[in-house]
Amino acid sequence: MFKLEDSYLHKGKRRELIRTLRNKGIRNEAILEAFNNVPRHFFFDSALLSHAYEDKAFPIGEGQTISQPYTVAFQTELLSINPGDKVLEIGTGSGYQAGILYCLGANVHSIEYNKVLYERTKKFLPKIGVKIKHYHGDGSLGLPNQAPFDKIIVTAGAPVVPKTLLLQLKIGGILVIPVGDRKKQQMLKLTKQTNKQILKESFDNFSFVPLRGDEGWE
Ligand code: SAM
Repeated sequence: MFKLEDSYLHKGKRRELIRTLRNKGIRNEAILEAFNNVPRHFFFDSALLSHAYEDKAFPIGEGQTISQPYTVAFQTELLSINPGDKVLEIGTGSGYQAGILYCLGANVHSIEYNKVLYERTKKFLPKIGVKIKHYHGDGSLGLPNQAPFDKIIVTAGAPVVPKTLLLQLKIGGILVIPVGDRKKQQMLKLTKQTNKQILKESFDNFSFVPLRGDEGWE
């Protein structure tokens, strides 16, 4: 699937990263395998390349970040992806999370607010064989023309749960979203049991860049 150059060094570092994720509690073997199959260093520019397999977030330009691998794994576990699921990702950023979802067999729709990152990732992902549908715009409003979705993942910190996103979920669908203030957010999993019943589960705190847009911070 991946057309850029991989190496034994990077494969070894990926195995170490997977050990770290296991030690931190990630148990889903398909997700760990996806981390093995998606070379994170492809998503880094040369100045930061040696850091690609550290379990940390790193800058990707435009004041944005590629999320920490543990965060990507944690959110992906909460989503319980089944092959063929129609998934909306809000905050394409580098495209790494989208690559993991694609590797798990999801039909990924991903929306990015920042035009520069949108253009860059739209050109880059096909080069490494990741096929998703890209959109530029305000993902805090979801993607009404493509709804409903089986799963929605928000990869930026929101002040509240946007009601629009719950409306764009199928019955039985799952929304994973970090909600809090600008510095710290609690990870939430919302399962749409019926049109009127939402099951809300709360997890640890994380620290994301802010979700922008109408239902975000501005
Ligand atoms: N998922 C990304 C990855 O794998 O690299 C990391 C995302 S980064 C932590 C958050 C991204 O959300 C940034 O690229 C930012 O521009 C984007 N973003 C912020 N508000 C947004 C919005 N309303 N709609 C779409 N994207 C948004």
